[in-house]
Amino acid sequence: MPILTDYHIHTPLCGHATGPMEDCVERGIALGLREIGFACHNPLPRGLGGDVRMKESELDYYVRRVTDLQFQYRGRIDVLLGLEMDYVEGLEDYLARQAAAYPWDYLIGSIHYLDSDCALCAWSRRLPFDAEEQYARYFALLEKLVQCGRYDIVSHFDVPKRSGNAPGPRGVEAMQRALDAIARAGLCLEINTSGYRHPDLPQPDTYPALPLIERALALRIPLVVNSDAHGPDQVGLMFSAIEQLLWQKGCRQLVTFRQRRRDRYWLRQETMK
Ligand SMILES: [Zn+2]
Ligand SMILES: [Zn+2]
Repeated sequence: MPILTDYHIHTPLCGHATGPMEDCVERGIALGLREIGFACHNPLPRGLGGDVRMKESELDYYVRRVTDLQFQYRGRIDVLLGLEMDYVEGLEDYLARQAAAYPWDYLIGSIHYLDSDCALCAWSRRLPFDAEEQYARYFALLEKLVQCGRYDIVSHFDVPKRSGNAPGPRGVEAMQRALDAIARAGLCLEINTSGYRHPDLPQPDTYPALPLIERALALRIPLVVNSDAHGPDQVGLMFSAIEQLLWQKGCRQLVTFRQRRRDRYWLRQETMK
């Protein structure tokens, strides 16, 4: 498989993913990946968003499990230590400490909530404001995430669409501004394939959708393709199709990470038979 990495793999520690971590790694090997990276949901203080993430007391264990797998699979596949770290306004110091506390290979920055109490899910269908406000709030937070300088990869860019709501003119403008901010900051954007298995989306799709991927390519934003797997069978989901699509759109390079340093590799098309 020409896409060589899948850097967004969850573990049962977050409470809503299934399957042994070893099975995810084995699936990565079977697919021909050279690198597989775990990026489970980070702990937050005071139990914020606690139903979908690791506890603070579990973070040491998570890091140890991933580093054990690195050793166990050495020579067969590189196992990377990542974290999907929510950006939450007001928690900047806490997140800075978390970012510095372990030798992460990369940090994936996510907005899952539209408020600092982590009560308003970004793709909820029952928000106390309209869709334009939903998108405007989400992308305003995403811009702050980008500008805080704490992250390497921006996750599931247009995830509010999971609510079924269209962005409207204000939302579209906010998305374009956020992409420009990513380009200016030199951050990497993930193409997240979990939208192919989210039944609440009006149609199967990547995050971000194709027109935004095209804009990201035009802005020369570095890309990775990630599955956001919450079970071993979801590792590498739709990667062959995405590789073909990226090639058609003129994408020739993707990026890798090691200890928060970014490198590039050539995306080669398999010979047609
Ligand atoms: Zn996420
Ligand atoms: Zn995720």
